[in-house]
Parts: sequence; C-alpha cells; structure tokens
Amino acid sequence: MPFPLGSRLAVSSLTVLLLSCASSVPASAMAPQAGAGSGPPQQVIPFGDSGKSQTLELFFPGTTYDPAVPAPDTLLRQPLGTFTAHHHEILAAMRAMEAKSPRMKVITTGRTHEGRELVCVVVALPENLKRLDAIRADLAKLADPRNVDAGEADRIVKNSPAVAWLGYSIHGDETSGSDASLAIAYHFAAGTSADVTDLLRQVVVVIDPCLNPDGRERILSQFEQGAGYVPNLDTDTMGRGRWPYGRGNHYLFDMNRDWIWGTQPETRARWAAILSFHPQLLVDAHEMGALDTFLFYPATNPFTPFFPEATLKWWQRFGADDAAAFDKHGWSYYTREWADSWYPGYTDSWASFVGAIGILYEQARYGGAAVRRATGEVATYRDAVQHQAVSSLSNVTTLAKNREEILRDYVAAKKKNLAADTPGNGRMFVLVPGRNPDREERLVASLAGQGIEVFRADAAFSGQKVETSMQGAKDSRDFPAGSVLIYARQPQSSMVKAWLEFDPHYDTDSVNKERKELERKQRSKAYDVTAWSPAHAYDLDAVWCDAIEVKATAIRSLPAHARGVVPLAKAGDPVYGWIVDGDADGAVVFAGRGMEAGLQIQLSDEPISASGRSFARGSLLVRRTENSSDVAEKVAHVADAAGVHAFATGTARSPDDKVDLGGGRFHLLARPRIGLLANAPIDTDSFGHIWHLFDAEIGIPVTQVDAQQLGGYDLRRYNVLLVPDGGDIGSILKEAGEELQSWVRNGGTLIGCGGSAAEALTNKDLKLSSVKMRPDALEDLEKYAVSVKREREAGSKPVDEATLWGGKAPEAKPADAKPASEEKTAEKPKDEKAKDDKKDEKEDLKRRDRWMRTFSPRGVILRGEVNPDSWITAGCGAELPIYFEGSAAFLSELPVKTPVRLAAVDRLRVAGLLWPEAKERIADTAYCTIESHGSGQVILFACPPAFRGWFRGTARLLANAVVYGPGAGARQPLGW
Ligand SMILES: [Zn+2]
Repeated sequence: MPFPLGSRLAVSSLTVLLLSCASSVPASAMAPQAGAGSGPPQQVIPFGDSGKSQTLELFFPGTTYDPAVPAPDTLLRQPLGTFTAHHHEILAAMRAMEAKSPRMKVITTGRTHEGRELVCVVVALPENLKRLDAIRADLAKLADPRNVDAGEADRIVKNSPAVAWLGYSIHGDETSGSDASLAIAYHFAAGTSADVTDLLRQVVVVIDPCLNPDGRERILSQFEQGAGYVPNLDTDTMGRGRWPYGRGNHYLFDMNRDWIWGTQPETRARWAAILSFHPQLLVDAHEMGALDTFLFYPATNPFTPFFPEATLKWWQRFGADDAAAFDKHGWSYYTREWADSWYPGYTDSWASFVGAIGILYEQARYGGAAVRRATGEVATYRDAVQHQAVSSLSNVTTLAKNREEILRDYVAAKKKNLAADTPGNGRMFVLVPGRNPDREERLVASLAGQGIEVFRADAAFSGQKVETSMQGAKDSRDFPAGSVLIYARQPQSSMVKAWLEFDPHYDTDSVNKERKELERKQRSKAYDVTAWSPAHAYDLDAVWCDAIEVKATAIRSLPAHARGVVPLAKAGDPVYGWIVDGDADGAVVFAGRGMEAGLQIQLSDEPISASGRSFARGSLLVRRTENSSDVAEKVAHVADAAGVHAFATGTARSPDDKVDLGGGRFHLLARPRIGLLANAPIDTDSFGHIWHLFDAEIGIPVTQVDAQQLGGYDLRRYNVLLVPDGGDIGSILKEAGEELQSWVRNGGTLIGCGGSAAEALTNKDLKLSSVKMRPDALEDLEKYAVSVKREREAGSKPVDEATLWGGKAPEAKPADAKPASEEKTAEKPKDEKAKDDKKDEKEDLKRRDRWMRTFSPRGVILRGEVNPDSWITAGCGAELPIYFEGSAAFLSELPVKTPVRLAAVDRLRVAGLLWPEAKERIADTAYCTIESHGSGQVILFACPPAFRGWFRGTARLLANAVVYGPGAGARQPLGW
C-alpha cells in the first residue's frame, strides 16, 4: 500500500542516518553466512567490494528520506554500490519501493530474447503520477503541435512537468549505471526534503534501470565465477570478462547501434515506451577503460546534418552544471575528447533526433570491485556508482531549473520540423515496393515504430528532381500507386533526414580534422560507421524527390505479403510441383525450413515459367514425385511459415522459351548442417550477427563450434563451416589445416565472413585459396587489372565474324591493353626511374601500400558489381550496395569465381567517408569469391555480410551461401 503523503512528510529527519546507503558498515559483514548452527560458520566468497572494509558515504548527503520507503541497502544482500546487483534483484528492489512509495510506478515494457522483463520506473509526485496520462497527452501535443493553438501550447509549456528519461547500462558489462538506477529511484521516491520535492514539481523521472538484462546477467555470472576470497585490486582481474563478454544482448548485438534499426526486441520495446513519454532529457550511462575518469557531454563534432540545434545549446548548460557537481567532490571528468555524434543510431543521438537532449556518460569501469589506479589510489565500485548517480541527479536538476525554457525549445524544434521553409522540408523519400517485400515491410515497420509518419500513395504520380540511391540524379520519375511516401516535413523531420539521407557529408572542419589525424597519427577519430542509409543497407528501390501533394493513406505497416499455396493447375488436375520465386528473401527461408521438414528442393539456375507465370533465377522447385506422400501439406506449412507463395503447377513444360521443369538446370539442395566458429579470437559482433541471421530469422539450427578446440571436432557432422571475423584466426585454422583441407575436398562449404576471416583462409600454407591479399601481390597488380577488365567485358560484345571466318587480322584486344591507371604509373619521375634495383622497387610498392592503408575506411557503403550467372547471387540485382570497413583488399582471377566485385574507382563510393587513397586501393578488388576444391568449396567475403542485421542485401548472399551452398556449389555423398 502506498503511504499517505501527509504521514510521510511528518517523518523526522533523524531517520535519515538509519536509511539511505548505510554508513560505516564494512561491506563484508553483510556477506551471507552458511552452515549456522553446525560448527564454525562456513566462509563464502565475498563479491564486489565486500572484501575490503570501506566507509560508505551517503550518495546524496543532506537529503531526508521517508522511512516508510525501504532503502536499497535494506533490500539488497549487500549495500548498494558495493557489488553488482542482478537484474532480478534490481527489479525486486524497485517493486519493494513501489509498494511503499506513492510516487513510484513500475511499468513492464517488453521482454528480452531470454525472457527477462524490461521495465521503466516512473517516479513523480503522487498528483502527477495520478494524471500521468494527461501529462503524456499534453507533451504529445507539443511533440506534434499541428493541431494546437498558441494559447494551448503556452499553457502546457508553463504548467506541464518535463520528462527525464534515465537509461542505464545498455552495454551489459558496463555495470555501474544499473546499480546507480536504484540510488536515483530511491532518492526521488523517498526524498522528503525540498531538494527532491522541488525537482519533482518540475520533472517526471522515468528510469530504465537495465537496458540489457541478458548481457548483464552473462557478465555477472563471470564476475562471480572469477571472484576469490582475497581482494585483488588489479584492474585486469576480470577486465571485461571472458568470451562472449557482456556487452551485447543474447545474440551479442550492440544495442547502442540499433536505435534506428530496431533489429532487437529490446530496442523495439524502448521505442514504444520512450515515444509514449516524449522526454526532454535522455541519459545513456556507459563505462569505459578502468584507468579513465568520467566523460559527459557536450559531444565532439562531426554532428549528423540536421542535428537539433537545441541539443547543441543545452549540452553546454547541462555540461556546466554537471562539471560543477563533480567539482564539488573534486572528481575528474572531461568532455568533447571523443564520442562524436555522426552516426544517428546511438542512444543519445537517436534521443536528440526525437526531441530530447541526449547525453552520454562514460564512467571508468571497475568490474563491480575495487581497483588500484595507475596513480596508486584505490577506486571502489561504489565510487563508480556514485558518479553515475550524481551525474544523473545533476542532469535532472538542470532540466528542472530550466523546465519552461527547455519545453519552449522542444516545441519550437517540432514547429521547425513542420515549417515549410526549413531546409530540406520540401523533399520526400519514396520507396517503390516490389523489389523485396520482406525488407520493405521491415523498413515501414521500423519507421512507424519510431513515430515517423508514413503514407501510401493511392494513385500513380510523377516526382521531380529525383535523387536515386545508386544511380545519381534524374529530372523526374513516374511512381506507381502503392508507393510509400515519407515527407521530410513532419514532426520527426530531423530523424527522417538523418536516417534516410543517402550520403551525408562531414562538415569541412571535421574532414580536415580527420585527415590531419590520419596523416600525423595514422589513426582515425571516426567513432563508428560513416554511412547508414536503409535504402542501401536493405538494397531498396528508393529515391528522394521534391515533395508533392499526393492522395495518400497513412499507414503503420505494409500489408503483410501473401503466403501459402497458389494453384496454377486446373482444379482436380494432378500437381507436378510447387515453385517459390527466387527473388524474395523468403525463398531462402522456405528452402532452409523446407529441408528441415524433409522436403527435397531443387534450385533453378535460370529464370523459369509455369502456367503463364515467370519466376526469377534462383527459384525453388519441389517436385511431387521426388517427395513423400505428405508433400502438399509440408509445402503449404513451410510456405506459410516462410511468408512466401508456393505456386502449384500441373505441368513440367515451360509455356515459352524458358527451361522445362524436369531438365538439368536445377541443383538438388542438400540440408545444411551448420557449424559456426565461436569463442576467442572470434569477434562477438560478427559471430552474433551471423547466429541471429540463421537462428532467429531464417529459423534453422546452428551449432557453435569452439574455435579453440577446432582440431578436436569430427567435422563430418557439418557440411557448412562459418568463420566469422575476429583476431588471430589464422593460427586457429592453421592447427586444423589438414582436417579442414580434407573436409572441404569431401564436400564441405567453408565460408570466411569478413576481412580477417577471409584473410586467414587465403594463407598459402592452408592450401584452401588462391585469392591474394593486395600487399602480397603488389608486383602483379597489372596482371590482376587485366583480368578484371576481361571479366567486366566478358560476353558484352558481339563476335567479329570477319575475323572469325575470314582472313582479317584480329584487333588488339582491349582486355589485354594496359589499364589507364597502370599507364600513368609507368611514367615515373626521373629519380625513381634511376632505381632499377628490383628490391628497392618492391620496398617502394610496400611503402606506398602501407601509406594508402592508413586511409582505410571506418565503415562506408560501396558499389558491388554482381555476376548474374552465379547461384550465390540469387535475389540480387545487377549492383549491390556493400558495407565495407578496414583494409582487406582481395585480388582474384579465374579459376577463382568472383560473384561480387567492387566497382571501378570512379563508381566505387556510394556513401560515407572514403579517402582517394583507399578508393584507389579497394577499387576492382573482390568482395565475394568462390573456389572449388574436390567436392567442396571455399567462399570468402571481404567484409562482414550480415553486419548488425541491417545489411540485408549482402546478408542475402550469406544466406544463399549457407542454405544453397551444399547443394548448388558443392557435391554431397550420395546415398543408395
Ligand atoms: Zn558502452
């Protein structure tokens, strides 16, 4: 039962000392004792700081608290901040406080993959808590001021509390924030002195105590398993724990990069929760290296174009107050040294784009214990927790102090988003559905989930000043009815522009700063990717054009695409087989799940047709007679689950010049038995993205194969082995080299998913690949350039019959001519010409390559040229936007097949910061290669194809490689 307000106020301040964070209690005294009553008490390992006695100072001295509300210290097994509390302990403590405080309400917002509860904890004055819906409705009016008159908006600005959203520990191993959330919740739920009650008159506090419960629990179990009886102040004791660490969620996704995509349930749950509160402040509390201090905002440039100006302004004020709060204690802190705001998918950037002032904290990481810093002083975990709490309180105080001005700025920013004369507001983003229904549905759901208005055109229309995602500008384009429209001019305008813009550019100052850093220090200041447009990531048919009024309907989702069996044969006629069109991503899902269900499935090499309907290359065919008698039910079930149509045809005969269905242009697919390398030195992100793709999206089983024990596995259990990116993968593979070679020769499909994995597989000692890394083939660049030219020209010219049949001498083949770039380098300056010593030349080439490598991209989108004859490119268009990072440049020529090659230097860059040196180095290199060995194959990807769950175009290549690979590119043993 909530305590009545009056009696709480009557509580004497004498109770203070008994409450809050218990003072002068040696934490070890709180350790649970076992074996009472039967001999001497058994010792148990003390967790966290409990190994050393420490005097616990109050987090917020001077505040008085309501004794009816239990303090976290009394609710936890050790005083708050002396150990890392488990997620369930934090929730239980929150609920125990909620039961006694009339100011607190715990709301469930969602569930994690592992089923843990996601909550937000609202703390407000009882009268505000009672009218929470009305407060939210008022703020919603400010968030979309189109139907609010000036008087009404003014009334809300003057009277409504502002909302502070405090989010903690999105990276599960950055633990102190979640512990601090209890200190903050208690302070606001139980504080009776004016310092608290005055704030609560201005602010509703919403606490998201644990943004990543699955990651937190993973790391806490490691902390506890690694703890001993003897306190150890070494900062490396547990460090970040062991593989797979605690940063990511269940699938090891970095959720601090997921905000604009919503690939994870935690993100999607938070979208809904945050947007229902319309917060003005959003705090995102992290941790960094143990020997660091504390970072808060202002952030550093570059800022995403259209970054809200109010945020930039308020960062100065919030930063100044936070600095003063830290100065009071003499604590160290800094701002602006790193953490730029270029990528809009960070928590704080996303928050700023939806209208809040997004602020990041980075506290030095002590791993739940005390550590000795380089200077000798001992820093306790409780110190870390207190820093987070004090910073949070400082930010809430700044919000409360400036409530009216911040609300005024909030509504002004939304009005600017809606104004006709705001730069960029005259444009709209148009998505033409049809290329890939699955990805189009995902994009629309993500847009709507983030509160972005989406419309569907009721009729065809023509757009002017068209900017395409891959092919430059056009004067105009006609769009069909059903096209999806996202107007830049809308309440979420800045988010629309920041996320959907094709190719945002760094400002001049930031470009020069980055160049200087690279030239002088050989390191990049870019904190994350430099390009992210979903039109590229999802490979959509989408453009920007001038906004026009079109008769359109507001939508929150696209109609779910039809699924199930469609009869093409006459009713009553026997079915020859079922066809699933190869273009849709759902085809891979159908194949994967279909094989799990025991279906025999054929993959077409060429486009096919049946009963007047055409199907793309890579379509699937289930022949009735090749399957068991329940094939019809199985096909219907799997088509439904995969979200595809299976067309039931009554004949194998093609009605036109396409291939007949009973012929040889089909590969019988083989059920993939997938091994995925896990454990160090595999990169957790790269591993997690692949695991998520096959397990959570395609829905087929994946076995995690311990990379450290690779030699000990009987690899015959698998016909696909996936090697994610990582550290020194080469030495792991080298140890199992012979087994891998014979496994591949016997029909295995070995896939290197990213630069370091692919590089490890090109090691010549492994004898698995003849693809070369650029630094190893600097003297052969010309030879490769000729091969690439020949590959591009292949099949593009008619035969010169005069030469073929007559006596005409053949013209010099352009493919054999020296490429222009090589001709240029042939004219070397005089002093270089003098160096005819071959060794010197080689050294020069190496030196130049090293220099060029300095400018390797941090995360850009490049143009890939797709070979339409390869089974692995089913579902891809002629060009494919590719995520590229790092310096791996792969050189390939026949007999290595290169289904996707990066474009020539003048067409390579699609979006992002790509320096000329990197452009020259990466252009024309291989993105995806396939090499046959015996019955098996080796497939290499130059960069992670399933990056973060966004790059759905290249993820399709990986899905094809795994699901189609064992049947289409390799040969499996035949049974009899
Ligand atoms: Zn972090």
